[in-house]
Amino acid sequence: TNFQELGLSKQIVATLFALGYETPTPIQEQAIPQLLEGRDMIGLAQTGTGKTAAFGLPLIEMLAKDPKRPDNRTTRTLILAPTRELVNQIATSLKSYVRGTPMKINAVVGGASINKQQLQLEKGTDILVATPGRLLDLIARRAIGLTAVRYLVLDEADQMLDLGFIHDLRKISKMVPKNRQTLLFSATMPKAIADLASDFLKDPIQVSV
Ligand code: AMP
Repeated sequence: TNFQELGLSKQIVATLFALGYETPTPIQEQAIPQLLEGRDMIGLAQTGTGKTAAFGLPLIEMLAKDPKRPDNRTTRTLILAPTRELVNQIATSLKSYVRGTPMKINAVVGGASINKQQLQLEKGTDILVATPGRLLDLIARRAIGLTAVRYLVLDEADQMLDLGFIHDLRKISKMVPKNRQTLLFSATMPKAIADLASDFLKDPIQVSV
């Protein structure tokens, strides 16, 4: 199988080829077609499996089909991850996939200047990658709102629970529209994650690699 057969457009496939991605990894093969159809998804996968592209590529494809950005203080896509390192890594990967397009990807994490992040957000966001605590701080400052979120990704959900982000996640879940597509990735599936998934996701498919 190649990326085009999974339903991605020629432009993205060409970008992937330039990055040296010729063959989809197993999670990409399983996830991309179903995500393009709008399904919610639970992905049991570790880092290193290609999971960032598995969720990032279909999101970029769907956003590109509807290029209208609502306004500069909203985002249509929110990706939550537990650590600065992971947030920055996800944002770097996604930026490489949208090179040459007008799509804007912003990363916001604790421990860095919130004023700088606020200024960056004012330029507009198509995909926001964030740690939960810093996101809530920026929402409190009205730097960003979540009422236009159409796609929500919880990455490394088990780590987010271990780090005590459950209350933040529940707060954030009350701010995003119900009508959305939600993806949850986790390396493990303890009961707390299954409960979180049943609260956040609708009729999800499950893929594991
Ligand atoms: P991840 O599991 O998302 O952290 O990805 C692990 C690494 O694999 C990253 O460096 C990606 O750039 C790379 N990668 C992801 N998918 C592919 C692919 N289909 N072909 C080659 N490299 C890939």
